[in-house]
Amino acid sequence: MIQKQVVPFQEGNASMKALLGGKGANLAEMTRAGLPVPPGFTITTEACLAFFKVGNRISEGLLEQIAEALKQLEKQKGQTFGDASNPLLVSVRSGSVSSMPGMMDTILNLGLNDLTVQGLAALTNNEKFAYDCYRRLMQMFGNVVLGIEGYHFEQLLHRLKEKEGVQQDQDVTADGWKSLIEDYKACILAKTGQAFPQHVYEQLRLAVEAVFKSWNNQRAQIYRKINRIPDEQGTAVNIQSMVFGNMGSSCGTGVVFTRNPSTGENTFFGEYLINAQGEDVVAGIRTPLAIAALKSEMPQIYEQLFSASKQLEKHYKDMQDIEFTVENNKLYLLQTRNGKRNAQAALKIAVDLVQESLLTKQEAVERIEVSHLDQLLHRGIDEEAVKDVLAKGLPASPGAAVGQLVFDADTAAEWSRAGKTVILARNETTPEDIHGVIASEGVLTSRGGMTSHAAVVARGMGKPCVCGCEEVRIVLDEKRMFAGSRVVEEGDWITLDGASGRVIIGAMPLHEARMTDELLVMLKWADDIRTLKVYANADNPEDAKIARQLGAQGIGLCRTEHMFFSPTRLPVVQRMILADDKEDRLQALAQLLPMQKSDFEGMFEEMDGLPVTIRLLDPPLHEFLPNLEDLQKRHSELTYGHAGSDLEREEIAHLLRKVQALHEANPMLGQRGCRLGIVYPEIYDMQIEAIFRAASGCIDRGIRVLPEIMIPLVGHANELKILRELVDFVAEQVLGKDKLRDCPYKVGTMIEVPRAALTARQIVAYADFFSFGTNDLTQMTYGYSRDDAEGKFLTHYVDQKLLPHNPFQVLDTEGVGQLIDLAVNAGRLVKPALKTGICGEHGGDKESIFFCHLTGLDYVSCSPYRIPLARIAAAQAFIMHGVPGEQKVAQAI
Ligand code: PEP
Ligand code: MG
Repeated sequence: MIQKQVVPFQEGNASMKALLGGKGANLAEMTRAGLPVPPGFTITTEACLAFFKVGNRISEGLLEQIAEALKQLEKQKGQTFGDASNPLLVSVRSGSVSSMPGMMDTILNLGLNDLTVQGLAALTNNEKFAYDCYRRLMQMFGNVVLGIEGYHFEQLLHRLKEKEGVQQDQDVTADGWKSLIEDYKACILAKTGQAFPQHVYEQLRLAVEAVFKSWNNQRAQIYRKINRIPDEQGTAVNIQSMVFGNMGSSCGTGVVFTRNPSTGENTFFGEYLINAQGEDVVAGIRTPLAIAALKSEMPQIYEQLFSASKQLEKHYKDMQDIEFTVENNKLYLLQTRNGKRNAQAALKIAVDLVQESLLTKQEAVERIEVSHLDQLLHRGIDEEAVKDVLAKGLPASPGAAVGQLVFDADTAAEWSRAGKTVILARNETTPEDIHGVIASEGVLTSRGGMTSHAAVVARGMGKPCVCGCEEVRIVLDEKRMFAGSRVVEEGDWITLDGASGRVIIGAMPLHEARMTDELLVMLKWADDIRTLKVYANADNPEDAKIARQLGAQGIGLCRTEHMFFSPTRLPVVQRMILADDKEDRLQALAQLLPMQKSDFEGMFEEMDGLPVTIRLLDPPLHEFLPNLEDLQKRHSELTYGHAGSDLEREEIAHLLRKVQALHEANPMLGQRGCRLGIVYPEIYDMQIEAIFRAASGCIDRGIRVLPEIMIPLVGHANELKILRELVDFVAEQVLGKDKLRDCPYKVGTMIEVPRAALTARQIVAYADFFSFGTNDLTQMTYGYSRDDAEGKFLTHYVDQKLLPHNPFQVLDTEGVGQLIDLAVNAGRLVKPALKTGICGEHGGDKESIFFCHLTGLDYVSCSPYRIPLARIAAAQAFIMHGVPGEQKVAQAI
């Protein structure tokens, strides 16, 4: 006997989510709470995994369990599966552990065949309804189970409607449906060589198999990858007795959210359609009515729905997304789940739930999806510039997007790969379009409501979206979009305002996002919880100011070479690098000194009272030198083409010789960082002098200055020893002994060469702090060139699941993490008060932040706009793992 792989709704509960999937667990929980759920059962995720294990085959044991559960269901419903006079009909729906809306398959009305359809017609006294159900089954079954492209069925349906002279599906006659069923049968036979199965158990087996397999369809795989959902989870399958929303005007179907998923407001929100079935609302084929209209149309149902929704929200302590059907004036709940929402709504809902005493502050912080915080810091449109609003649709996902218009997902993906920014406009999107949605800045649809696929997916991804924009008509073949008498072509620039639903002609200037009150409240709660500090990577006073506004507790990395990227400064830096001798170099440095001094003054002013970590120059030389190939080309033109003057020829020849002399095969591993500072001490000398002169001036103006001078690319203790001596010497020279007391500076090193991590015990003798430069540390630990790997093999590696993530985005805790842990332990053994942090890109990544917390680092440093994310993630790390150090990462090593 195999283990129990089928669980009736009345036997499950919410804690069985891993086994029953989200939908199955919630259906069971709702059944237990006495809510009106049509009875059914769930086939477990374990059954799905067993199915994959034996080469996509359903075992006899599982089939027996399904048959047994069906018998129970027949008893509950007083109907029999496949019975000609009183047939039981069921839906077969996927239900994964993590919500994957629209990514997998569903089949409704299963159990209909040429005989049972007559029984259904007689029972309901509604022939038109019964044959409509039957053709829907054939269409879904043909598409999902038999793999026939949906448009074959759509074409036949379209032809029938033309023949009958009707626009809407519900206006088709019973005879029309009957003839369509014959057409569908012929289509299925022609496409697959087999007839549509009349045996209902055969239908069921094939449907369950298809839903299992849909776990591995392309769109589901892509969705899992983006949302980091493990492939090993598998999906459960829910088999539920059917209720019908398409039996006439006392029936309907809809979706409600207990709060507004766009704004978070505590208002009942949703849409419904009278006389419609299943996916009609979310599929966006007809534009539905707002739920408020149900209050006057079916007041009792509305009240019942409203109170059940509030009961569910209280039970789950979260905003719910509920599917319902009304069959002959009786309400049924088909599903409830935590509703998808955008970042602003997520924050507002979480803060409100704390105020309503449904959640604790910790629970609220824990719940925030940190990747969505980026969305909050999204841009809006500069209203002054808006002149030409083409159309207005539903404001489905906030934020503004500017791009060139495309009308299909493949073009969106292709143009985006070519470096263009695009807006995808479709009549309606389907999960098949997901790669286009990912590639686009924003999405526009002419049909569908706020709960349509386009809206749900875009919101989930934090992309601006305008949907149900019925004023526009998209003609795919012509690659054009019409709005009244206006025509917009593929490639034209448009702007979407997802907050107001406007579609605007042209590329509007956008303004940066602002902090909302709810975010400030949530960040305050997070700050009260977390122990890990959050610093910013900022290279100029403007960024430092933004960073401080966003909550930075210091600057963790100021890349001083970035201070030289401006057109006025770059030539001076180039002159310094290309100098023929020390004299020349000193002249260039003398020019740079005041520039650096004023930069540092600006940084200290902005960060008054907080540490500012300034990294001495670390330029991979190729980023600063004139391009060798360009120079060679110009040199040949001057030499062989006899162009230009003698003077120019000589200058170019000289420059070419210098650039050739400095040329390195691998500049990333070349004369960078402290190596440059040791060979040319006058460069670091100038920078250190500028730092302390700036500090001195600031101290005079009452500013509290805490400089932390950081030496890059150290691999041997002696490198740091020499340079630390230089810093200490210059500091004393510039400040003098007395003023030094007002300037408690630190000298530290980046740990970005594996040897530095391995010899941390020696290096720490000269360091007040370690800052892990995980960009280089990843590059050198893996031996992957950070300039080349992503464009070459790394994406392939990640796609093939050879690596779980791109290690330049998510810290490789197994390898690089081991070096960090080792260096922290070794350093602290010698200097218990050693300050430690991370300043590579990983400092703004949630998983990496969790690792940093566990390793007991003092801070993470990330780009200014990631600071809110890092503050929340650091609090979540504390909530999940407690006091750092207690569950040392060493366990995992
Ligand atoms: C690093 O290597 O992680 C780092 C922060 O330095 P950079 O990216 O400037 O090399
Ligand atoms: Mg580096």
